[in-house]
Amino acid sequence: LMPDYNRKAAGYWLTLVLLGASTLLYSALGVASLPLGALAQILVGLTAATIAGCFPVRIGHSKSSFAAGEVFIFLLLLLHGPAAAALAAACESAVGAFRTSKRWTSRIASPAISSLTMFTLGWLLQAGLHALVRGGLNNGGLTVIAAMLFSVIYFSATTLLVSAVPRLKRNEPLALADLLSVFGWVGIAFAASGAVAGLLYLTYQISGVGVLAAVVPIMATLLATLHYYRRHQEANEAMREAAAQAVAREAQAATHAAQREAEIATRHLEQLRDSERRFHSAFTHASIGMALVSVNGHVLQANDALRELLAVDDTQLLERSFQSFVVEADRPALNDQLALVADEDFEDFTLEVRCQNHAGREIWVSAHCSFFSEPDSPAPCLILQAHDISARRIAEAGLQRLAFHDSLTGLPNRRRFGEMLTQAVEAARADAKQGFAVMFIDFDRFKLINDSLGHAAGDDFLVQVAHRARETVRPGDTIARLGGDEFAVLLRGVEHEADVITLADRLLRVLRHPLLVAGAQLRSSASIGITTSLVGYESAEDALRDADIAMYRAKAAGKDRYALFDATLHAEVTRRVGLERDLSHAVANGQISLAYQPLYELATARLLGFEALARWMHPEQGAIGPDVFIPIAEETGLIVPLTDYVLHRACQDLKQWQQSDPAFAQLTMNVNISGKDLAHSALVARTTHALVAARLEPQFLIVELTENILMDQLKVALPQLEEMRTLGVGLSVDDFGTGYSSLAHLSTLPVDSLKIDRSFINGMRSGSKEAAVVRAVVNLGRSLNKRVVAEGIETETQFAQLRDMGCDVGQGYHMSRPLTAVAIERLLVRSLLDVAPAGIRTPAVSLSALH
Ligand code: C2E
Ligand code: CA
Ligand code: CA
Repeated sequence: LMPDYNRKAAGYWLTLVLLGASTLLYSALGVASLPLGALAQILVGLTAATIAGCFPVRIGHSKSSFAAGEVFIFLLLLLHGPAAAALAAACESAVGAFRTSKRWTSRIASPAISSLTMFTLGWLLQAGLHALVRGGLNNGGLTVIAAMLFSVIYFSATTLLVSAVPRLKRNEPLALADLLSVFGWVGIAFAASGAVAGLLYLTYQISGVGVLAAVVPIMATLLATLHYYRRHQEANEAMREAAAQAVAREAQAATHAAQREAEIATRHLEQLRDSERRFHSAFTHASIGMALVSVNGHVLQANDALRELLAVDDTQLLERSFQSFVVEADRPALNDQLALVADEDFEDFTLEVRCQNHAGREIWVSAHCSFFSEPDSPAPCLILQAHDISARRIAEAGLQRLAFHDSLTGLPNRRRFGEMLTQAVEAARADAKQGFAVMFIDFDRFKLINDSLGHAAGDDFLVQVAHRARETVRPGDTIARLGGDEFAVLLRGVEHEADVITLADRLLRVLRHPLLVAGAQLRSSASIGITTSLVGYESAEDALRDADIAMYRAKAAGKDRYALFDATLHAEVTRRVGLERDLSHAVANGQISLAYQPLYELATARLLGFEALARWMHPEQGAIGPDVFIPIAEETGLIVPLTDYVLHRACQDLKQWQQSDPAFAQLTMNVNISGKDLAHSALVARTTHALVAARLEPQFLIVELTENILMDQLKVALPQLEEMRTLGVGLSVDDFGTGYSSLAHLSTLPVDSLKIDRSFINGMRSGSKEAAVVRAVVNLGRSLNKRVVAEGIETETQFAQLRDMGCDVGQGYHMSRPLTAVAIERLLVRSLLDVAPAGIRTPAVSLSALH
């Protein structure tokens, strides 16, 4: 219960309590022995004192309060002696202590001290008053003064005794200051209480108990009013204080906030300083060259990396502009960008420029400039970041060379040429004075060189002619290798066609000179196709294509010459382009039909079969010959569906005719196959498909392949032709005599018949060179056991001559033109009506039936 009490304090407390308790006990016994009337008065006084203790009057701003009960206690003292007063004082004090303290030590000590003091001092007062009376000084005034003095002493004594407790706890000596600090108004109030009690006592002695009965309630009311008035005042004060406290708290909060803000600002400033430090260190130690430059390029501050890059020290760098390091050619681009700085819409830029550093080395630099303005800097400036990209540039240049140059000759390749030509085309479109010309060069005998001397010799040849051609063209012209033995020359700034022709003549002359290749003297020549910007090109491809077309014309005109692309060629090309477009729909739209030209056994004039010939009925241009559209189909790849169509249709038609009468069961069908069909490896499968679809037996189908194609593509063709042979399909060499087939080869090829080209038949007169060739071919065929066919027989003479030579089969306008399927059917029907003697049908369809 008493953790804060030391031994001394505890001893003191216990002593007081024991003494107080003894006093109370003694007093209670003393009071109990009094007469009843006195006892009643004492009880009233006790009650009044106790009740008054519940309504203390607080004094000013001190912690002390004053209970009006003192008046009654002092009155009891005067009327009934110290025992009664001690009881009353204990009661009043206990009530007060209960109200003001929660500690039982105080609650017990307070009444003990009060009763002890009251009893002791009361007894002294009584003794004093008796002494006065005995001395004959029974004076009302003295009684009142004595009561007043008594109350002040009583107050002082109790206060001193109470204040001793904390002093003892703290081991401090007793101090009068404890009394003086609380004396003030409370002491005065006690003095007043004492005086009032004295006066009441005197009045009682004069008027009896009635006075008390009247005065006590009045006093109680007065004191209660005073109590509540003080309470009210206290509440107001408390409120004012609370308000003041709130204001103070707010003020404090505001101060705190201001302090916090100040702290944050300080921290911010520190961070800023840190970041500035970091930035500065990043700037100085960056591996990338960095500088602050003024808007006109003057270097204001630079880091080590930049100095290293430009091989300068600080003073050299700071007195120069960055531009002064940039090579002349790249300077305008940089200046253009810098000029934009003044404009509002300046944006960061990156430029790749070449710099001449102080050590005399040229380096490629990627320079990035961004705007940099500080709030307190006078003028805006730029941050320049520069890094060495020389290695990348060198690698790129290498790749560029690889991508845009022909590795064999070192000349620009097709891609590069295309780019340059595109530029030339655009320049000419923008300004007609910027004329250009394109030459397409193709060597006349390159394939022969390659085939006979080998690829290494071919390469050597190309390198030599490339070198010659490059020496011959003018410095500003571009010569490129497009691939194989195809070269092209781009001439810019062409004013007259005559200049181009002069150059073409010079080139032809130079290229005609013999070359030493693989130890052999080679004669070579070229064919050149020329076109110029006068045609009005919109694309490089068109220009190159036209030069190519002109080159073909030069070749057709006899090689070793040039040809100009002109209006007729242009019209031809335009038409061709249109046909190319239209042909793509022709097969699907049923515009392709077949004509069948009959083939006859010359000795008997018996019908053997037909050759299927494709026909194109163009919706606008009418009939277009196969000489025109077959090459287009070959180039565009449309030949594959076209051949398929011909194969299917021809096989079906033949099957139908074979079935129409036993006399026709052995008829055959010749179908022309293009070189492109051979390149398309599925030829065998496609042929089989057509045969199966028509349910035609393979031996009735004969494919025709021109001699040139056969020889050119022998390697690819041979396995397929063998397979066709295995399949049972016949093979005929078309246009025989126009190519240079090795006769030695012929015996081993899987070929059934040779079809002599119609140019020989056409030129055949007795004793002519052609007749000799035809006779030789017929003999060759016989010795190789191959059937010989003559095409283009237009006259009876030719017919008879060929039959007499022993040519097996013939075809030509003399016997029949190519006919529609319907016309063929009519022809077949008529041949049946041309009945042989004795009603026996001959399988032959005689010539007479046709006319
Ligand atoms: P080719 O294979 O030499 O066909 C024979 C050509 O000679 C046919 O011309 C035919 O009409 C023509 N001809 C027939 N008899 C005579 C005659 O007595 N005098 C003259 N001057 N000419 C005669 P066409 O039909 O114009 O065919 C031309 C070429 O087109 C054919 O030559 C052939 O190479 C090609 N061709 C035709 N149809 C096809 C086809 O379906 N596929 C393929 N790949 N080529 C075809
Ligand atoms: Ca043919
Ligand atoms: Ca032919």
